[in-house]
Amino acid sequence: MSARGLPDSSATLPEADFLFGELSSYLKPEDISELQNAYLFSKSAHSGQFRKSGEPYISHPLAVASILGKLRLDPQTLTAALLHDVMEDTHVSKTEISNRFGKPVAELVDGVSKLDKIEFQTHADAQAENFRKMLLAMARDVRVILIKLADRLHNMRTLEAMRLEKRRRIARETMEIYAPIANRLGLNNIYQELQELSFRYLFPTRYRVLANATKAARGNRREVVTKILDAIKQRLQAGGLDAEVTGREKQLYSIYKKMAEKHLTFSEVLDIYGFRVVVKNVPSCYIALGALHSLYNPIPGKFKDYIAIPKANGYQSLHNTLWGPYGTPIEVQIRTADMHRIAEAGVASHWLYKSTDADINDLHMKTHLWLQSLLETLSDSTDSLEFLEHLKVDLFPGEVYVFTPQGKILALPKESTAVDFAYAVHTDIGDCCVAAKINGENAPLRTNLRSGDRVEIVTASHAKPNPSWLNYVVTGKARSHIRRFLKTMQYEESARLGERLLNQALMSFKVDPQTINASQWEKLARESGAKSKKDLLADMGLGKHLPVVVARRLASPGESASGTNRISDVITILGTEGMAVQFAKCCRPIPGDSIVGFIKKDQGLVIHIHDCPAISKNRGHLDNWLDVAWGKDIARQFEVNIKTVVANERGVLARVAAAIAGAGSNIDNVAMEGEGAYTTMNFMLQVRNRYHLAQVMRGLRRIPEVAKISRMKG
Ligand code: MN
Repeated sequence: MSARGLPDSSATLPEADFLFGELSSYLKPEDISELQNAYLFSKSAHSGQFRKSGEPYISHPLAVASILGKLRLDPQTLTAALLHDVMEDTHVSKTEISNRFGKPVAELVDGVSKLDKIEFQTHADAQAENFRKMLLAMARDVRVILIKLADRLHNMRTLEAMRLEKRRRIARETMEIYAPIANRLGLNNIYQELQELSFRYLFPTRYRVLANATKAARGNRREVVTKILDAIKQRLQAGGLDAEVTGREKQLYSIYKKMAEKHLTFSEVLDIYGFRVVVKNVPSCYIALGALHSLYNPIPGKFKDYIAIPKANGYQSLHNTLWGPYGTPIEVQIRTADMHRIAEAGVASHWLYKSTDADINDLHMKTHLWLQSLLETLSDSTDSLEFLEHLKVDLFPGEVYVFTPQGKILALPKESTAVDFAYAVHTDIGDCCVAAKINGENAPLRTNLRSGDRVEIVTASHAKPNPSWLNYVVTGKARSHIRRFLKTMQYEESARLGERLLNQALMSFKVDPQTINASQWEKLARESGAKSKKDLLADMGLGKHLPVVVARRLASPGESASGTNRISDVITILGTEGMAVQFAKCCRPIPGDSIVGFIKKDQGLVIHIHDCPAISKNRGHLDNWLDVAWGKDIARQFEVNIKTVVANERGVLARVAAAIAGAGSNIDNVAMEGEGAYTTMNFMLQVRNRYHLAQVMRGLRRIPEVAKISRMKG
């Protein structure tokens, strides 16, 4: 928007004098002089740059500050407005701004510069909504958005200087993104002006036709408006009400929209007259409404009480439509001065420069309350000054907005990770993801994403979902797909275990598994209600069918295993069976323990310590029990529970932890309880086997403060 040219003169622009004159109506002299410093700094930084219109560049930051000054914003916001383009256009650093004008101002300028960097690429409706949310989420401090909106408003006012194509693009972006944001924040005047200007540049012909038609009609209207205005004023005065009454001119865009949406003709839309009544307090609103009803009859079904039930953006007013003279409808809005201020300035009324007026505090309170409900902030401060300290308002606390490599925006729940993102893009990408790149840099899959991140997922064709992902994914889609995958994996593993169990059972019937042919398998599967041989094997692995029963059916009918149906052979546990074999959480068996296996329906083979108290009640179900034994050289680690009682001495926990680590074990978890002289610590440790556990316990016993130590089983 700027071009290098001749350096401009050092004289202060008349616009600047005008701005500071206006601001002195509500700011202290020291604030004004601080703002003058910012102006001079910005002016020299932008010196030699010009707007497309030919004006010196500094005229733009001045205009932006003046828009915000009309909203009576605080000096920090105004300073940042004067400086808002220096980081982008003149390479002044954030540090320099921070040193000269303080950190809050530097944060605001930085926030605006960051928003300038993200570009709105696609035009689908859903994307526009996401983009709006992303802007708001990225801005954090609402004042950044206020500056951005004022910046956009001035750029729209001076859009004429741009090329046609650029005008269209900026106008569309304003209509789709910035005007709705202004509306959401309750900045009514900015919202309407942005809309009007966008309409003008998006649809120049329609705009011109409507503008001419309205101009022509206005002459006839003026007489009617004056007549109604006088009648309303008189009636309110007669009712003892101190009120300010104004006629409202309709925006061309709202006329256009009404014509398009309600299929009305131009004159039908234009023949509705609008009036606004501003009174002192809430009771007066209802009294004024009554007075107007006695003047003109209300049209049934049109009354809206936004005082009792405010709009989501905090707007409050009474609305009604009356039958005016000549049968023309009259729309009236009745509100208090406070409500009017909120209707005009919305969220900006928070940063109203502090006034001595006690009513302002009340207004702050009220606007704060609605902002809270609007933004669902966690801040519970009701003091406006304290509220100013907590400006980092998270506008959408529940969501983050991130880019795909194609520039599409995805909305994800807060705390979402790269894995959630991968599944949100496509299930296949989720299933095969191995790494992520966030903003071009490598990042772990578990990284929490932040709004504005550009995320790229690295996949590998043989990669598989990892069960540990379940610990940190937050989206339902990721969770359910990982679970589904694990289920399939469990199926494979169960089928392998089922085959081992069946083979062992067949041996006890002296049947060679190799001799069973396909048709026998098919028949058997059908009789068992399974779809295939593999399904049947998986069912056995999962304990849905008992291997001994299946084996008996496979063996020649009538022939029984030598004297007993019990399987005498021992199943070897290798610790590598995956999900088909589980180690009971009640007793946590480890290699070296004497163990038993129990086939539990839908869970497969569960290994317990032979005297685990949790299983004694199941002793009767003989068929479900299997003899199991540990295999040789089991390499994996097992979890085991240890309870220690230690004297409360300084540093004892560190010594206990060191002893455990010294014995080559890891602590998975620790829970502590107790008071007084002793503390009970329950550890969950990783050990290889009983021998390893014995080493760990020996190490612990050497610590003098350890009074008691035992392994917990059940
Ligand atoms: Mn700008």
